[in-house]
Amino acid sequence: MTIWFDTEEMLIGGRWLRAADTLTLENPSTGQPLAQIARGQSRDIDAAVAAAHQALSGDWGRMPALERGRVLTRMGQMVLDRADDLAVLEAMDVGKPLKQARADAVALARYLEFYGGAADKVHGETIPYLDGYTVYTLRQPHGVTGHIVPWNYPMQIIGRSVGAALAMGNACVLKPAEEACLTALAFARIAVEAGLPDGALNVVPGLGGEAGAALTAHPGIHHISFTGSVATGVKVQQSAGANVVPVTLELGGKSPQLVFDDADLDAALPFLVNAGIQNAGQTCSAASRILVHRSIHDDVVARMAERYGALKVGPAMDDLDMGPVISARQKAIVDGFLAQAGDLTVAGQGEILGTGGHYVAPTLLTGATGAHALAQAEIFGPVQVVIPFETEAEAVQIANGTDYGLVAGVWTRDGGRQMRLARDLRAGQVFLNNYGAGGGVELPFGGVGKSGHGREKGFEALYGFSQLKTVAAHHG
Ligand code: NAD
Repeated sequence: MTIWFDTEEMLIGGRWLRAADTLTLENPSTGQPLAQIARGQSRDIDAAVAAAHQALSGDWGRMPALERGRVLTRMGQMVLDRADDLAVLEAMDVGKPLKQARADAVALARYLEFYGGAADKVHGETIPYLDGYTVYTLRQPHGVTGHIVPWNYPMQIIGRSVGAALAMGNACVLKPAEEACLTALAFARIAVEAGLPDGALNVVPGLGGEAGAALTAHPGIHHISFTGSVATGVKVQQSAGANVVPVTLELGGKSPQLVFDDADLDAALPFLVNAGIQNAGQTCSAASRILVHRSIHDDVVARMAERYGALKVGPAMDDLDMGPVISARQKAIVDGFLAQAGDLTVAGQGEILGTGGHYVAPTLLTGATGAHALAQAEIFGPVQVVIPFETEAEAVQIANGTDYGLVAGVWTRDGGRQMRLARDLRAGQVFLNNYGAGGGVELPFGGVGKSGHGREKGFEALYGFSQLKTVAAHHG
């Protein structure tokens, strides 16, 4: 497919502009160049922030919530209409199998529908107070919000963060990842066509250390939403902190699925494996640790290994079980972790059919304790570690024994245990007898510990992308 728009352009204040320089996007399935994109600089970020301010004092700032919702809903319909084309762009750019890329396009549409419908349903309250007073709260936008998006799920992360921010009436400056930003640019075209007022959404591609750093340090920004690595998240928080700007950080994890001896294994098995290898393991909520009761350990490993043996890895457009990882750098990171797995057993491995791209065989490892380096670090590749446990208390201790706390899954038929674990697991989401719940646009999402702070998705994101003002009127 030929790309139907000029990939070198940025959207600033409703105009399509070029940066002084460009960057090359690569197709991870082939290792070949895919497109040139703008290499935005701090002056481009300055222009985008200024355009966002102008939008807030113009048409966008005055637009009623109902109309904002209608624009978002239109954008959602346009994304659905073009889901096939968007899927091809995402598949080529990120390397994910076409059906996953299409599911991401549908999820983007769903975010826009959800937040379009919710835009006029978030409101303040009245507060009973002293005699002679009327007190109420107003929910208002922060103002200009910065959105720094990674390469692993561009469409989904744009949907959940920009969708919610626009619904609340913020004006957004989006900095997509330098490794994958074609769908961010296509999304910008859709926003313009749908009638989003100029400057409500500005998109400036570029390097993290250039456009990204300029955005987080900008004094004209009022809120930052960041998804990516812990190391960059720390920089983003420090940089925004200098201007006392609030940040939402979504920094990944080392999420466990706990399998007890009374689990419905037939139901659990597809979730155990898929949640580890989806998007080549480059998923913040990947279930990279599988904790299994010792009495069923060997059986679960054998059944997972059988599934691993059937996995096929190849070019995104071949739509196999798994595509490549995003870059040679990411492959080197994953290979580096696997090189530390010498004392573990490879219980199962998939087959690589692709050539030329950044392919890594999905790998199931056993023989680890919860303290093993590969059971602690976020690998961000298709690697799962199986860890046995004896008791419920030990399972919780291992599950909670990393720096992270994003998602956890529990497989058991024991209702009391389900409730205890939902209470005790250190995670922003706990799934009982499922994992991921189909993406869950409606379900608040975010982490504790080094997985980050703040919540996106669902109504909770709308509270995060707004501020509360208390109005106290004394009228006697
Ligand atoms: P990263 O955190 O460096 O990049 C994510 C985004 O932040 C990109 O848009 C990037 O341009 C931007 N960025 C980078 N440096 C910046 C800075 N100083 N200021 C502002 N923005 C900046 O992640 P990466 O280098 O692409 O990947 C490295 C590791 O991060 C991966 O191996 C993985 O462990 C993790 N990661 C996690 C997620 C997630 O969903 N939680 C997503 C991508 C990567």
